[in-house]
Amino acid sequence: MFDSYVENTLQYYPDKCINCLRCTQVCPHGVFSEGKEHVELVRPAACMECGACALNCPVQAIEVQSGVGCAWAMISAALRGKDMDSAECGCGDGSCCGGNSKNPFLIEKL
Ligand code: SF4
Ligand code: SF4
Repeated sequence: MFDSYVENTLQYYPDKCINCLRCTQVCPHGVFSEGKEHVELVRPAACMECGACALNCPVQAIEVQSGVGCAWAMISAALRGKDMDSAECGCGDGSCCGGNSKNPFLIEKL
């Protein structure tokens, strides 16, 4: 299986997390999961570096070099002659790689 985490740029700092759960709401790949004191990084290999979590994290507990995203993952996997990570990519309009809105990644402020 293609393991993007060995090459992706996702960094998570749980000590900074205030458990707002925004990252769990915006991530199209289920990389973060609800935890007790802070979210848990449960599927790091599924991260496609879309940047949505980092963009929505109010305390900079997540860093990711976005802009390479799923296209990068597919190309990289193809070059290696392997399948992309089996995580079903939910990309499409309003999600990871697609969307017609100005900023499909940003959760509206309340
Ligand atoms: S960068 Fe995108 S795919 Fe990766 S953890 Fe954040 S929201 Fe999920
Ligand atoms: S968005 Fe940031 S502060 Fe909120 S749960 Fe995720 S990592 Fe923690």
